[in-house]
Amino acid sequence: MYRDARSGLIVFLAHCILNQNTRARGVARRRGPFEEVVVFLAEKGIGVVQLPCPELEFFQEIRVPSAKDALDTPEYRAFCKELASRAVDLINLLLKQKLRVIGIIGVEHSPSCAVTEVPLSSADLYKYSEGMGIFFEELSQALRERKLDVRFTGLYSASNKAETNVERLRTLLEEA
Ligand code: SF4
Repeated sequence: MYRDARSGLIVFLAHCILNQNTRARGVARRRGPFEEVVVFLAEKGIGVVQLPCPELEFFQEIRVPSAKDALDTPEYRAFCKELASRAVDLINLLLKQKLRVIGIIGVEHSPSCAVTEVPLSSADLYKYSEGMGIFFEELSQALRERKLDVRFTGLYSASNKAETNVERLRTLLEEA
């Protein structure tokens, strides 16, 4: 359609997949980006939109780690809802240009950006339950409200999970 080099494929990434510097104190697992993700996306020619880091922007500092119960205030949820709405505006715009948004990629174990494994209780930050983080719930809801169907997948921050991460990206691409 555009008669040029573009692949027409795009993913939206949770901010810290490309920039671990925004993570809460003591939980950054990489020096910068997830290398395997950058390599995979570059090799496949998939364009990247970096989502904002909701916790950094809301708290205006690199905060201490927390669970969903501590973060889930009306103020933080409203903030995430606003960020989600803007991201979905952009997804909608890209889709209207006949580009394909093949996925929204989150970070498992984050109270804001998890897709399937979220820490629910401040009593145990390292116990994960099935569910999404607050920002990703709002993204999911904003997509539903606009009747847009975009797949989600979650990656792991630990570098020893790099193969799992690549496998999840491969699945996303194959099922796009
Ligand atoms: S998981 Fe989400 S909220 Fe946490 S550092 Fe990454 S982008 Fe920010």
